[in-house]
Amino acid sequence: MRVYSIPMRTRFRGITQREGVLIQGPAGWGEFSPFAEYGPAECARWLAAAREAAYGEWPRPRRDRIPVNVTVPAVDPERAHAMTAASGCRTAKVKVAERGQDESQDMARVEAVRDALGPKGKVRVDVNGGWDVDTAARMIRALDRFDLEYVEQPCATLEELARVRLRVDVPVAADESIRRAEDPMKVSAAGAADVAVIKVQPLGGVGPALRVAEACGLPVVVSSAVETSIGLAAGLALAAALPDLPFACGLATLSLLENDVVDDPLRPVDGEIEVRRPVPAEDALRRVEIGDGGWRRRVAAAQEFMDAPPVIGALGR
Ligand SMILES: [Mg+2]
Repeated sequence: MRVYSIPMRTRFRGITQREGVLIQGPAGWGEFSPFAEYGPAECARWLAAAREAAYGEWPRPRRDRIPVNVTVPAVDPERAHAMTAASGCRTAKVKVAERGQDESQDMARVEAVRDALGPKGKVRVDVNGGWDVDTAARMIRALDRFDLEYVEQPCATLEELARVRLRVDVPVAADESIRRAEDPMKVSAAGAADVAVIKVQPLGGVGPALRVAEACGLPVVVSSAVETSIGLAAGLALAAALPDLPFACGLATLSLLENDVVDDPLRPVDGEIEVRRPVPAEDALRRVEIGDGGWRRRVAAAQEFMDAPPVIGALGR
């Protein structure tokens, strides 16, 4: 078990340092990197994903490259244009409704990204739950001038998402509304979204996430939890195993981190990431490794909520 701490290039979810644990087992390396605010019961699912990677088996891949989107943060239009053009991606996800910014800034950013991609590119916006229903209906119609692929989490609650969905033609995707295995089914039952954004670690592994995706009946977009290449490999395995993959995935997130733990990181080339499973390089790992950092205790606490042999015990430490 190795603990890493990597600086973020841009602040994300209020954090400036991404931390987690890498666990090696007979099947390979797994990553356990729940955010700091998650308690042991929730962390148990994240640990199950690491256990699956280290000791279990991933479903059979159906494809060997995964199209991914560039994520454009709430930057000015010039920078948004340059980031999109430099990414090589044909799909962009633009952050809007950032605190302290106004609607004209969102319009200008989305316009710049559309311009950089040209008419054939796809532009989606991510609101992170930042609008009320009326604002969402108005802003989605306004932004759809630039032809939106979908709008991600326009409002915070399922009930609000369902109401927005009835008022606009642009498809609605649920992200923050999906944090555990039963959530995609709830989203689908509530008529709250057209698309489900799913992540491997919160759903307990590639196999469980694949079953959730199939059961919920919605098209899915696989996203990362801003992991190292070890965690990203699990996201790629999920995207590779899905029967259908109609949308570019949110797995091009290594650019948010200053460092990685492998020598051959999972970065996009021409808008796609190759489906493979890199292993940590000792030099790279040593550069980002920290002492325990409280992680052994977090793993032990999460294990209490798991129906499986302990990960630490299995390592004999
Ligand atoms: Mg999102």
